[in-house]
Amino acid sequence: MTERRLERSAVHRGDLILVNAQLPFAGPEEQDRVRLDANVMLARRAAEPLRRLVRALGGWSVLVPVSGWRSQREQQEIYESSLRQNGRAFTEPFVALPGHSEHQTGLAIDLGQAGPDLDFICPDFPYCGICQKFRRRAADYGFVERYRAGKESVTGIAHEPWHFRYVGRPMRRL
Ligand SMILES: [Zn+2]
Repeated sequence: MTERRLERSAVHRGDLILVNAQLPFAGPEEQDRVRLDANVMLARRAAEPLRRLVRALGGWSVLVPVSGWRSQREQQEIYESSLRQNGRAFTEPFVALPGHSEHQTGLAIDLGQAGPDLDFICPDFPYCGICQKFRRRAADYGFVERYRAGKESVTGIAHEPWHFRYVGRPMRRL
């Protein structure tokens, strides 16, 4: 793997924007958003390659966009409702604090495999079948699986097989 050094300010903008427990999303709110379905929006530059990839795999009948761009208020509502319904021990590893979610950038998407009872916080996205085909090709379309197993101490987030982050295509060869 090639190491690439970026200016410190690069972590706050562009396709490589970094948002985590230590680094809040500082805005501005992504304005160029498009709808993937009635409830899910994504930054246009991420939505277009995502649509191409999903189309190549058979379309949105098998894969479901569960959650994309979130406003600060929406993140707050998701966090609070999960706290109420699921408790702190479940919520903290899976739901970022308001202001600290990658979803606020418009470049993160949670995907589920179509089926009954799809969970909003932890949708089913197994390492087999159509989901694994998506995963294998994702980097060609500028997406990475963001929160992998065994990396919890680095990312601060539990293993989330359903969460993909658009990092742009130039990064795929690094
Ligand atoms: Zn997510």
